[in-house]
This record gives sequence, structure tokens and C-alpha cells, in this order.
Amino acid sequence: MTRERLYLFDTTLRDGAQTNGVDFTLSDKLVIAGMLDDLGIDYVEGGYPGANPTDTELFGENRKLDAAFTAFGMTRRPGRSASNDPGLAALLEAKADAICFVAKAWDYHVRVALETTDEENIASIRDSVKAAKAKGREVLLDCEHFFDGYKANPKYALACAKAAYDEGARWVVLCDTNGGTLPHEVEEIVGAVCKVIPGDHVGIHAHNDTEQAVANSFAAVRAGARQIQGTLNGLGERCGNANLVSIIPTLKLKPEFSQAFEIGVSDAQLHKLTQVSHALDERLNRGSNRHAPYVGESAFATKAGIHASAIMKDPATYEHTAPEAVGNKRKVLVSEQAGKSNVLAELERIGIKADKDDPRVGRLLEIVKERETIGYAYEAADASFELLARRTLGTVPNYFIVTQFDVNVEQRNNAKGERVTVTMAVVKVRVGDDNMISAAEGNGPVNALDLALRKDLGKYQKYIAGLSLTDYRVRILNSGTEAVTRVLIESEDEAGERWTTIGVSPNIIDASFQALMDSIVYKLVKSGAPA
Ligand SMILES: [Zn+2]
Repeated sequence: MTRERLYLFDTTLRDGAQTNGVDFTLSDKLVIAGMLDDLGIDYVEGGYPGANPTDTELFGENRKLDAAFTAFGMTRRPGRSASNDPGLAALLEAKADAICFVAKAWDYHVRVALETTDEENIASIRDSVKAAKAKGREVLLDCEHFFDGYKANPKYALACAKAAYDEGARWVVLCDTNGGTLPHEVEEIVGAVCKVIPGDHVGIHAHNDTEQAVANSFAAVRAGARQIQGTLNGLGERCGNANLVSIIPTLKLKPEFSQAFEIGVSDAQLHKLTQVSHALDERLNRGSNRHAPYVGESAFATKAGIHASAIMKDPATYEHTAPEAVGNKRKVLVSEQAGKSNVLAELERIGIKADKDDPRVGRLLEIVKERETIGYAYEAADASFELLARRTLGTVPNYFIVTQFDVNVEQRNNAKGERVTVTMAVVKVRVGDDNMISAAEGNGPVNALDLALRKDLGKYQKYIAGLSLTDYRVRILNSGTEAVTRVLIESEDEAGERWTTIGVSPNIIDASFQALMDSIVYKLVKSGAPA
């Protein structure tokens, strides 16, 4: 049975750039376009040439992607000719494979926002598509507010879409611009459109205002649409756009879609999905959503004891799909409710062989339970759990000892008479027979301590040279009579691998120190540093 081709169009760099707090530089855009290309996306929309210097520069050169690099912009303005519109000219000059025009498809908007006639709006669509076709570009038309427009005046909304198709636009894209349309409405309206315009020329562009952008995209496909527009991690203004990171694996892994459609993303490319999703968050300097479907750290995490033992027998018992398919990992959480089966499953996952009757496994479970009652949370700190497990089983060398540390925070006037806070840490470390002393200034006590600690570890220094801290989270817990501080530190190495460590203490510096130490020792273990 031959499968139909379904196309993916990414607008992370255009619509996704509307996200509150997101501001892509040219190099961000080039890196992200490269990631999308590697993932096998068919169309990469780069931005709005002529509208801002970054996008103009982006489209000033041929970017040589396998994907169709797409420029976005408006159809010619009402009352002007196509040859006398500077906005349209900038779009036609852009070094792009495809041009995506946006036009009104709701007569109410045509009158109120555009202040023109229904006929002139349609003439503008025709002229713009014609001009871009004449330049040899593949043409798409985004029909703005299509669904609301269709509900108000189906004849006019369809006429706008049909005008673009008749003029030779490759795609007519139906946009749920306000994001309030429901899946059954999308299915019905797209079905009606596909009676007039062949579905293999119809696309869907859904916004997530009722958290159904992904569902709306699939509803459109079921009704005949053959292009889905979306963004990485669902980036986009307000509640975001349809999330391609959820759409792609569903298309690849769920038989309803995988048996009917072929997409440009291969199985090997699908394996990169988790990495791509996390790399985008990293570029944006924000933490990844742990609970993101398919790619989140918790997407394949199991807590309860009976689930964990079943998962060890056969993962399919509690997983809707295999985590490896999208480059994610199965995770069995070690928690307060944990049974021995959780601990054994987690040991197996991290590659430690242990017998279920080994008394040290029982001891490890006891320690985890004791520590969790005083505030540790090993399910959030995989690296600290691994160290605890290896220590209990007797396989972690004593690489170095911190014999003393000192952190000094001082507030005073500097030479200019300004009030400044200065932090300095001094750390004494013993490695074998060598004693080292390091000092560092930091922007706070934990930063100074981290810098001093990692400054000189003697013969181990080369193993931690690529180590950096990527996140630091503090929580005050009220357990019993006194408050304790829980610190979680996320670290990253030169290969981009990440891990989290934990420290708990009534003293925030002490808690941070524990987490910092675990991070360094974990890196030494992972790198196979000799004892
Ligand atoms: Zn949009």
C-alpha cells in the first residue's frame, strides 16, 4: 500500500519568534534552521524580510538548506500595484525557495482592519501570488482567521482561498489565528474546503489557545489537509502554536497516521527529536518542560513500585511507545514509596549489576528512604542517586578530600563610593599526597565556591575542564521543627550530557556544597578517572 505524502512546515523562526521573551539573533536563526533541516522538516520559515534588519540579513544570502527556506510577508497593499509596493518587493528579492503570503480571509477584518473592499482583497491575493510565481518561487498563502471567517461568511473565506489556488499557489493554509476553534469544527470546515481545493494543496496552521492545536492539526489531516504548520516546543505568542515535537512522533509512531502517511522525517531523524527539543530550550536559556509528551524528562518516568516491576518485565505494560524511538530514556524513579523493584530497575538502567538478594541493595533502599524523609529527592537528582548507589555497592574511589572551605561575603563602599557586595571563597583540597589551596571571587557565595572548588583538582583537573553548571534551584522545605534547604544543581559536560545532583541542609552553603561535590565526583566516575 502506498502512503500519501504529508508535509511539515516549521514557523519557529517566524511565528515562534512572537513568543513573549524570545528574541532570536541571526546566529540563533541559522543554528535553529540547521537543526530543523537535520530533522527532515520540509519547509523552514525564516522570518519577515524587509521588516527588520535580522530577517533582511537572514534572507540576504542563499542559506542552502535541504528544506524549502521560506520568506513570510503580506500580500500587496490595497490600492497599490504589485510593482509599486516596497514590502512586496523586499519579499520578492529575498533569497528564499518559497514565499508564504498572509492575507485576510474574514470579510469583517477586510472592512475593519484593512479598510478595503472584499474584491480588492481578493485582487491583492491574486496579484501577489502571480508576482511571486513569476519570480520562480513556490507560493503559499496563509489565510488569516480562516475558521472564524468561514463561520461568519463561508463563501468569502472560500473565495480568498480559491483565488490563491487558482493563481497557482502550491499551498493554501487555513489559519486558526485566534486559536479558539475546536477539533470537530476544524474537521468539518477543512472537509468543506477540500471539496473545493484538493487536500494535497491545503495546510493547517493552528494556535494553542484551547490547548488543542495538536489535536486540531490532526483533525485537519483526517479531513484531507496535507500540510501541518507548527513550531518546535510549541513556541508562539500567547499559548503557542501547534507543537511539532508532539506532532512528528505521533505521525511516525501511531498506526492511524504512520500507515497512511509518509513524512520527511526518517526513523534515524526521529531519534534526534529529544535532543533537538532540549537544544532549542538551551538556546532560549530556559529549562525544558519535564512533562512534555515524548521528549520530557518525565515522559517515560514511573514511580509506583508495582508499575516499576511490570516495566522491568515488559516496558509495553506501562508505555504507549518506546522512549528510544524519540531519543528519550526510560526512567524508574526512586521515591519514598519505592520498593526494591524500583531500586533494582534503576540500577539496571544505569548499568550497575546487582542481585536482588544482595544485602547491599536492601541497605541502599534504607538509605534512600531515610534521606527522603529529611528532604532529599532522588527522583530529581539522577546523578546523586547513581553516586549513592555506587558508594553503597563500594565502587566510588575517594578521588579527593576537601579539608576546609571558607566563604566570605562582604558589603562595603568601593573606591567610587558605591555600595558593593563582594564574595570570595577559599578551598583546601587534598589529592593523594598533594595539598592544594584555591581562591575565587564570584557573583555570590555558591558561584565563588563552585569556581574555587573547580580551579585546581591536580591530576583530576583535566577530567572536569569541560564541566559547567547550567541550572541552580533552591527550595526551602519545612520538615518537622526546622526549615531545611534543598539545592538541585544541573551540570553539563563538553559532550552536552546533563545530570542533576542534590544537597540538603539547614545551611544553604552546605546544601550547595554537597550538590557541587556530587556533580564533580559524578563527572570523574563517568569519565573513568583513575582512583
Ligand atoms: Zn500564527
